[in-house]
Amino acid sequence: MKERISAHARTVLGVLAEQRCHLTAEEILQRVDGIGTATVYRALDHLTDIGKIRRLSLGKKSAVYEYVREPHAHFVCSRCGRVYDVEADLSGMVREAAKCCGHQTGWTEVTAHGVCGDCMA
Ligand SMILES: [Zn+2]
Ligand SMILES: [Zn+2]
Repeated sequence: MKERISAHARTVLGVLAEQRCHLTAEEILQRVDGIGTATVYRALDHLTDIGKIRRLSLGKKSAVYEYVREPHAHFVCSRCGRVYDVEADLSGMVREAAKCCGHQTGWTEVTAHGVCGDCMA
C-alpha cells in the first residue's frame, strides 16, 4: 500500500485533524476551497485505505469520517443525528471476545444510541 499523500489529500486530512469531530463528505467539501468533489472523494478513499482516517456508518446520517486517534466509542443521537465521541476504550474486550470465535480484530467500533444532552435539555 502506497503511503504517499497528495497535496489535496493532505488538505482533507488537515480539516479532519483540526476539527477533531465527525464530518460527512459534504461537510468536508464545504471546508476545502478549490478542490473538486471527485478529488475530495478520492482523497477520502485513499486516506481510509492507508488508515489515516476512518469511515463510520452510524445512525441515519450519511457516513462520517474522522481522523484516527486513540480508541474511543461513539454516541449517536437518534433525534439530531449528531455523533459524539465517548472516551471509553472497549477494543480490548471486543478483541478478546472475537478471538474465541477465531476472528482476528483489525479495529473496533463501539456505538451507543440514544438521545443526546442537547436534545434532552
Ligand atoms: Zn441530539
Ligand atoms: Zn470519534
